Amino acid sequence: QAKVAGKNCYRFYSRVMDQAAERRMHLEQELRGAWERGELSLAYQPVYRLSDGVMVGAEALLRWLHPEHGQVAPSVFIDVAEQSGLIETLGPQVLRAACGDAARWPTRAGGPPLFVSVNVSPRQLRSGDLPLVVSACLRDSGLPADRLHVELTETAVIGDEAHASTLLTKLRTMGVKVWLDDFGTGFSGLSHLRRVPVDGVKIDRSFVADVLRDPDDLALTTAIIAMAHSLGITVVAEGVEQEGQYAILRERGCDLAQGYWLGHPVAIDEFLALLG
Ligand code: C2E
Ligand code: MG
Ligand code: MG
Ligand code: MG
Repeated sequence: QAKVAGKNCYRFYSRVMDQAAERRMHLEQELRGAWERGELSLAYQPVYRLSDGVMVGAEALLRWLHPEHGQVAPSVFIDVAEQSGLIETLGPQVLRAACGDAARWPTRAGGPPLFVSVNVSPRQLRSGDLPLVVSACLRDSGLPADRLHVELTETAVIGDEAHASTLLTKLRTMGVKVWLDDFGTGFSGLSHLRRVPVDGVKIDRSFVADVLRDPDDLALTTAIIAMAHSLGITVVAEGVEQEGQYAILRERGCDLAQGYWLGHPVAIDEFLALLG
């Protein structure tokens, strides 16, 4: 009896897996050339300084408007791009577009020149030509290096810290800032900070979400801020959805924040309108 159930189970799972694999293959084919067809664009989410509430930059987030399926979630298509290797052409296109946009952003009265923060995937880092791609994008756009930030997840640096650290040092020598994204979700964030040179960490929004309800999350967030500051590292909180979260992060000395309460990711025209 158990054997029969097991067999049925297996059939069920393999059918589900076939469907998932098929969908991925389909998406991969459609993602190929999507940039050239104009289906991909960048949305910008403003980042604010907590001490005075001034906007200091924005994160570039890729959007795919599929002609039939509508918006496809980045969590789905970025993964497809990463697995298939498409990210190796897509990544540089994103960097180029983001630098081109940011080079034309006006500086607001009383505020610093705005930075643009670009997500870089593990595969893009591993390929090794990131410093070359970045310097070409900076040169062609005229964007000063210190106005470009790159965001990497801990998974991008795990495994080959030496290689990652060489590449990141090259970027930092150029003046580009390096941030560790989704910080706190990896298994050993602290030890990475010792071996991988970064300018900032972005506290994952899963911590921020419960900062008002869960004393443990507040304690962890406060500890991350203290630890980062003692290492001379900037702290960004992501996923701020409520005023109360903003207030407590500010009180705990967090440097920067972004989230729906402060501003959603918006298309470039809307972002430019926001800049006035
Ligand atoms: P991420 O880099 O951690 O980006 C933050 C995500 O949180 C974005 O999701 C953003 O829209 C969302 N978000 C911002 N504020 C809030 C908030 O207050 N509440 C909630 N619930 N969510 C908020 P998005 O745009 O769907 O992107 C998901 C992930 O896809 C990104 O996570 C990043 O890892 C990846 N991604 C997006 N664009 C790119 C890209 O151009 N290149 C690469 N390699 N990855 C990208
Ligand atoms: Mg990010
Ligand atoms: Mg993140
Ligand atoms: Mg994330």
